[in-house]
Amino acid sequence: MTDAHHGPVHPTPDAVATLRPLSLDEVGFAPDGFLGAWQHRNAASTLPHCVRMLDEAGAMDNLRRTAAGDSGGFRNMWFADSDVYKTLEAASWQLALTPEREDLRAFVDTTGALLAKAQDDDGYLNSHFTLVAPEKRWQELHWSHELYCAGHLVQAAVAATRAGVGAEAVAVARRFADLIVERFSAVDGTDGHPEIETALVELYRSTGHRPYLDLAGRLVDLRGRGLLPAERFGPGYLQDHVPVREAAEVTGHVVRQLYLLAGIVDVAVETHDLPLLDTAVRLWEDAFGTKMYVTGAHGSRHRDEAYGDPYELPPDRAYGETCAAIAGFHLSWRLLLATGEVRYADEMERALYNVIAGSTAIDGTHFFYSNPLHLRTGHDGSHEDAPSQRLSWYSCSCCPPNLARLVSSLHGYAVTTDDSGLQMHLYGDGVVRSTVDGVPVEITVVTQYPWDGRVTLVVEGGGEWTLALRVPGWCTEATTDVESTSDGGYLRVTRDWTRATEVVLTLAMPPRFVAPHPRIDAVRGCVVLARGPLVYCVEQTDLPDGVVLEDVRVDPFAPVAVGAAEGVPVTLRAAGAIERPGADELYPPVGAIVPLPAALTLTAVPYALWGNREAGPMRVWVPVSSARSGT
Ligand SMILES: [Zn+2]
Repeated sequence: MTDAHHGPVHPTPDAVATLRPLSLDEVGFAPDGFLGAWQHRNAASTLPHCVRMLDEAGAMDNLRRTAAGDSGGFRNMWFADSDVYKTLEAASWQLALTPEREDLRAFVDTTGALLAKAQDDDGYLNSHFTLVAPEKRWQELHWSHELYCAGHLVQAAVAATRAGVGAEAVAVARRFADLIVERFSAVDGTDGHPEIETALVELYRSTGHRPYLDLAGRLVDLRGRGLLPAERFGPGYLQDHVPVREAAEVTGHVVRQLYLLAGIVDVAVETHDLPLLDTAVRLWEDAFGTKMYVTGAHGSRHRDEAYGDPYELPPDRAYGETCAAIAGFHLSWRLLLATGEVRYADEMERALYNVIAGSTAIDGTHFFYSNPLHLRTGHDGSHEDAPSQRLSWYSCSCCPPNLARLVSSLHGYAVTTDDSGLQMHLYGDGVVRSTVDGVPVEITVVTQYPWDGRVTLVVEGGGEWTLALRVPGWCTEATTDVESTSDGGYLRVTRDWTRATEVVLTLAMPPRFVAPHPRIDAVRGCVVLARGPLVYCVEQTDLPDGVVLEDVRVDPFAPVAVGAAEGVPVTLRAAGAIERPGADELYPPVGAIVPLPAALTLTAVPYALWGNREAGPMRVWVPVSSARSGT
């Protein structure tokens, strides 16, 4: 069996899987649709920007110095090799899409050659430890990120293998992976930052070499055994406070937690370890049921980049790291494949169209690391931990190359297959060319989604089979113009497709207001404007002069008009008010906050597009006017 063209997650035929992903060459987004345009921007702007910034930030130079046999002179974060690997992965996926991109091919080839030179004779590769502290190799696993970096190298190698590029980088990764298997099969130890687990499983899937899977399973079960010194962050930060299978809730550093869970699902489905899969489901339910923002962001504490308590979801102090949203997307995809449950696809969509889309500027070269839901008037945006606008790079720049690798492989997450036919989870303008029972089928998708809920599909080939179309959780009225049955969150059309047949799926997407769970104290009394999968926000730039964003309130019972603005295909206009205490007191008596007489029409724009017209205050959750809330 060849591994060519497979996407980032490709379970083996023996794995526990309700659904199976299509290969990357079976799905393509049209360049003028939302997702296709995003991929185009990623390829044209984000990826070359990442390649350039790796040089400017010193990450490539670290590897060059290592290759030259130098010592010292390391620049950037000690895990900066991972930025190179994520970019290598992104470039590989992109070359599968656009093999004519000679610039990316050159990057992949020169990086592969560089890695081969930088790699030690025994297979070890880490520029920080080789240049700065060779005696500490494998000695500080709780903090060293050595296996984390190796994991990203492995994932890059899997991408390169599947794209048919980068043979030299692939060989380097295999040698390093073999060294890791040799050492960590014999020695108890694991990395403070999970990532190697999911990477090793995918390398097993790509190569069929069982020791990679066995080690991944071993590393999962070594967690929570006190092998990692907790130091000042505590063991929960590292998800090392309790054995994985006994964990009752997500905790600690969010990206670590979600990468670990992705690895857990991978191990569970390949080893048929259903209790372990149940663990992942349980923790997903905790994360997505009590600790996720309405934008799909995870992580409510800047301190330790961590999950907070259940329902602790402050909008202004949201951390919501971009990498965490991407990790949540990866996790949900794995659980969608394993279970076929629509809730996982719904959460992929929420994150994709809101926090992930919003983390990149429309120029493709500026990014948010933290993704707040409220940027206050007077916010001090001077620190990159919570800037007022997207930055071109960060001192820890894990997010931009993570975005690049996700977006360049995004078409791999849209459609799946099972014995009944094909399932469409994400709607993008484009073409699906696959097979059902070995017979070729083609689906041409035409849609303006997410701006419009009409999805026209022309389906041809394969005899009788079932096309399943996801009905998003936000949608209360979904129809097809041909006979379909509603089942498990999908409209299923079963018919003989030998002759080309058009199916029109209509997902009603009127503007709606979303309320918070009553336990989310931080936004009690507030609502969110939404339409379709998109969460909207109010920006200062759309308010009249002199109106302070925090004084604005909204009437959720008045009609909302749909409009458009420059660069914003759909805006929402709601009835608003301005409310302040009669005297400008910090703590006025109850009843003293009153609406000013002037009515206000609030214009809201998709959160995905905020901060692209003008830097300034923004809020997703808007307080309900006192006339409506009774306060
Ligand atoms: Zn990040």
